[in-house]
Amino acid sequence: QEDHFKKVISHAKEYGYIFGSSEIYDGLSAVYDYGQNGAELKKNIRDYWWKSMVQMHENIVGLDASIFMHPTTWKASGHVDAFNDPLIDNKDSKKRYRADVLIEDYAEKLNQKAEKEIAKAKKRFGDAFNEEEFVTTNPRVLRYREEQETVLKRMARSLEAEDLADVKALIEELGIADPDTGSKNWTDVRQFNLMFGTKLGASAETATDLYLRPETAQGIFVNFLNVQKTGRMKIPFGIAQTGKAFRNEIVARQFIFRMREFEQMEMQFFVRPGEELKWYEHWKETRLNWHLSLGLGKENYRFHDHEKLAHYANAAADIEFNFPFGFKELEGIHSRTDFDLKAHEAHSGKKLQFFDHELNESYVPYVVETSIGLDRMFLAVFSQSLEEEELENGSTRTVLKLPAILAPVKAAILPLVKKDGLPEVAQKIIDDLKYDFNVAYDEKDAVGRRYRRQDAAGTPFCITVDHDTLEDECVTIRDRDTMEQKRVKISELSTILHQKIDF
Ligand code: ATP
Repeated sequence: QEDHFKKVISHAKEYGYIFGSSEIYDGLSAVYDYGQNGAELKKNIRDYWWKSMVQMHENIVGLDASIFMHPTTWKASGHVDAFNDPLIDNKDSKKRYRADVLIEDYAEKLNQKAEKEIAKAKKRFGDAFNEEEFVTTNPRVLRYREEQETVLKRMARSLEAEDLADVKALIEELGIADPDTGSKNWTDVRQFNLMFGTKLGASAETATDLYLRPETAQGIFVNFLNVQKTGRMKIPFGIAQTGKAFRNEIVARQFIFRMREFEQMEMQFFVRPGEELKWYEHWKETRLNWHLSLGLGKENYRFHDHEKLAHYANAAADIEFNFPFGFKELEGIHSRTDFDLKAHEAHSGKKLQFFDHELNESYVPYVVETSIGLDRMFLAVFSQSLEEEELENGSTRTVLKLPAILAPVKAAILPLVKKDGLPEVAQKIIDDLKYDFNVAYDEKDAVGRRYRRQDAAGTPFCITVDHDTLEDECVTIRDRDTMEQKRVKISELSTILHQKIDF
């Protein structure tokens, strides 16, 4: 697994997906830039989300609010007082960690041990294996699972009660060591606010203290009535937004999984009070189906229902994904009650209510939110798509099996040779296709090498122009995943690509 993660990082760089930020100055820790292919993949993920959420739902509309917001916003939302992470330092290594993440990693290792036992038994018993019976009777699996649950429950309880001494006690009792040095010499656990502060205004005396938004959601809440009134929206309805968010994460690590500057795709769905749990279930299911639609494998997703709820929620679940370092949160679905709108009413003195004609009454709506990190989604898609594949002839190929709808370049057009008029035909095909698809031209090296290059870059189709093309107006289209080649008419290319790639 670790090896695969290293490959993901180096492959992302080699193929123009992700670079370290300001590399010529030796980089900036945990900050990344998206290269020519990364920018396209990111945009395609964002568009895929936007289409599914906004275009496909008559009662969901978009918004693009500012990163800067009035500072009272963050008082009202609770971020000034409660947006903290429990932090712990190792006295020997002087390294800083999130106490909850250390404990979660410990719990995930227990889970992996249980999974290993299951996999071993599966191998041993073959077809006769009954997984359900095994996991409910095998003493080792039961012990691992039980300990995992106990640990996570105790952590959740202590964090909820802000009993930081118990969080430290738990770390010590479990014998958790500094992952880098193995030292168990820990400081106390402290709370640390994650918001980035900045200043607006030229002179020191008149400048206003601002925060960079730590989530996009608040831009939606403060615009709730603007959108509802001007869009004549009726409850239930949603507002969707994508954009940058900033968190001064204590430990930004695991590549683009946890960043200090990242992008969110959030949707707040406003509902009648009392109907929120129904909608919460609806959005849990709808969002999971969105993920499954990309075909990255059902077994790579699971729900994690929260026991410890944030100060604003009455139900919350994560969709977790099987990242190269184990199952971790990819998306959150939260039933946020009327906490945010009520808090903004109280702090602004303005009513944020909806008049429900059917009920003939006004109320502050309840909110169900779906919130996903675009960069985290990028990592999920990219790491799951990267494969080293053994071929029938014994050789291996590196292939990035990105879902075609997300791939940066949809087709590469390759003249078999650089002469005899083939490049000109290839160029003409590009000129026809480029209005609808992002296509690329490649004439360097033997065609086999070019196929491999496109496989590794994630291009789902290669279209090859050869000498026969000059006679029969046909080209060969090769599928990245099956490596099958088919002869098709140039005039049919656009239709074929549309069939394979359209939303
Ligand atoms: P975590 O527990 O991993 O810190 P969170 O529960 O604080 O995440 P939310 O506040 O629910 O996360 O944010 C919603 C989504 O935004 C997350 O599911 C994740 O995909 C993304 N996200 C949050 N923090 C980061 C980050 N530092 N870098 C990248 N993506 C992030």
